[in-house]
Amino acid sequence: MARRKLIAGNWKMNMTSAEGAQLIKDIKAQFGAECPCTAVNKPDVLVCPPFTSIAAVIEAAKGTCFNVGAQNIHWEEKGAYTGEISGNMLNELGVTYVIIGHSERRQYFGETDDTVNKRTKAALKHNIKPVICVGETLKQRQAGETLAVIENQVRAALKDLTAEDMKNVTIAYEPVWAIGSGLAATNEDAQEVHAMIRGLLKKLYEGTSVADETRILYGGSMNDANAAGLLAQPDIDGGLIGGAALKPDKFAVIIKAALGK
Ligand code: PEP
Repeated sequence: MARRKLIAGNWKMNMTSAEGAQLIKDIKAQFGAECPCTAVNKPDVLVCPPFTSIAAVIEAAKGTCFNVGAQNIHWEEKGAYTGEISGNMLNELGVTYVIIGHSERRQYFGETDDTVNKRTKAALKHNIKPVICVGETLKQRQAGETLAVIENQVRAALKDLTAEDMKNVTIAYEPVWAIGSGLAATNEDAQEVHAMIRGLLKKLYEGTSVADETRILYGGSMNDANAAGLLAQPDIDGGLIGGAALKPDKFAVIIKAALGK
C-alpha cells in the first residue's frame, strides 16, 4: 500500500493569531487556484501553531486541505498542572494532530521517553493523531549510537500501543543536530534510520500491516532545496519542518516536492 505523504509545519513559539492567519493565506496564495488538495496524489498538509493561535489558524484554514495540530498535550484530563493543556481542550479547538516529544521539549522541558508514551496514549484516547519525535544528539551519532538510541526511543514511545492504535500514529525522525542548524541529514543517512525504524515496526507488530502503513517523517533543516531528495527515499514519508514552514514560498515548494512536481 502506498503511504500518503505528510508535510507538517512546526511553528514552535512563533506566530500570533493574526500572523498565523496571515501565514495560512500566504501559503494558500502560493498555489493559486490549484490547491494541493485537488491533486490525485496529494500529501496531507499540517500546520502546528502555538496553542494561543490555534483557533485563528483553524478559522483561516477553513475550505483548505490544511490540518491544524498542537505542539503538546498533557496526559491528565484536568487539574493542578500549571502551563499544560489537556486532550479535552484540544478537542474543543478541533485539532487533529499533535507533536509529541520534540527534542526541544526533551532538552529544555524535561520530556522523557515515559512522558512521551503517556502523552501519546492521551492523544489517541482523544482521537488526535500523535506525531512522535525521536532523534539522536551529535555526540550519540559520533559515538556510533544512532540506531540504538532511536530504537530505544521508538520502543518506549510505542509501549502498550496496539496495531489498531498505530493506524493513527506518525513517527518523525529528527536528528537533534540537524534541527535549526541548516545541516540536514544526507538522504542516505536519513534513509538508513527510517529503514531501521520500519524494520523495528515489523518486529513489534509482526503479522500486521503496521510497518507498511506507518508514516515516518524526516525533520531537521528540511527546506526547499533538499526536500525532493529526502522525500524520494523509499522510507521517508514526509517532513516535519520548522524554519522553512514559516516561509510560504519555501513551505509551498516542499509541499510540491511531496506531490512529485
Ligand atoms: C523542527 O523543529 O521540528 C525542525 C525540524 O526544525 P527545522 O526545520 O528548523 O530544523
